[in-house]
Amino acid sequence: MRYLITGGAGFIGSHLAEALLARGDEVFILDDLSTGSVENIRHLKTHERFHYCFDSIMNRHLLSELVDESDIVFHLAAAVGVRLIVESPVRTLETNVEGTQLVLEAASKKNKLVFMASTSEVYGKSDRVPFHEEADLVLGPTTIGRWSYAASKALDEFLALSYWKEKKLPVIVVRLFNTVGPRQTGRYGMVLPNFVRQALEGAPITVYGTGRQSRCFCDVRDTVAAILRLIGTSQAVGEVVNIGTDREISIEGLAHLVKQRSQSHSPITYIPYEEAYEAGFEDMLRRVPLLDKLERLTGFRPATPLDEIIDRVIAHFQKRTDAGAALAAGGIVAAAAPE
Ligand code: UDP
Repeated sequence: MRYLITGGAGFIGSHLAEALLARGDEVFILDDLSTGSVENIRHLKTHERFHYCFDSIMNRHLLSELVDESDIVFHLAAAVGVRLIVESPVRTLETNVEGTQLVLEAASKKNKLVFMASTSEVYGKSDRVPFHEEADLVLGPTTIGRWSYAASKALDEFLALSYWKEKKLPVIVVRLFNTVGPRQTGRYGMVLPNFVRQALEGAPITVYGTGRQSRCFCDVRDTVAAILRLIGTSQAVGEVVNIGTDREISIEGLAHLVKQRSQSHSPITYIPYEEAYEAGFEDMLRRVPLLDKLERLTGFRPATPLDEIIDRVIAHFQKRTDAGAALAAGGIVAAAAPE
């Protein structure tokens, strides 16, 4: 099969590309490298079944051509990460809404299955955990920037589901909960890569707010496994499905665990939200998915233990640091090998 991955040079997209290639499929990626990176796919670039275009999904002609080449479209391109959204709201809205519309339009012309990545952020500040796919979405006011991300992704979901209802375009919408693993960057505020980098550098581990807010962290390999099972399930078409784990850990607890696993002497410091983000920033206290639907549709439930995930992320950072140090010392080394 031939697959197009928009956002294929991103953290999740690159892992998905790797898994598809490993099972013998052909992969096209379209990525404008805004948050993705060449580093993520360097090890795939010479693969004979891997094709990449560093361009925007807003390039309508290229997008149509790539959709035509593919049997299934994974739409992962989006402005991601809370920090990026707070800092660049215009780009967030444009990329997420206009970009998705273009992807659906192009896919609709050839009736190609579209797999659309949405986010747990759409549940907003609902406190009715675990979050059920049919639950109400509770967003804050439009004057608070962070909600623009949730609103834009909710609109993406409406768009995708409307294409299914009105035009019979097969779509699968998934809401990804906190996904972590090697190659995720901390540049856009994601907590685990930030903590691991800080712990390895001996810098303070920065817990925002009280640290009593919690999240459930899912290994990117489990996320990819769930995605691949869903696209092979006809009952998933026209559905919205949570992907994540339901094992909760407080952010303070995560800081201690990272410190322990990396044997770091970093202090753990607490930073008020208004300093970390912007005045009036509202954080979600808990974010737990209900996974019954995923399990019913696929027979699969992500289960990689958090210790193991953290160890792999630590190993990835260490490998990168070693490669960087060797380069700085004038040695010739290959780019850090992928996981
Ligand atoms: N967070 C933190 N320190 C950091 C980065 C994030 O304490 O250096 C917190 C953040 O405020 C949130 C949690 O960790 O409560 C998860 O943040 P992330 O951006 O990774 O995911 P999301 O908020 O989208 O669940």
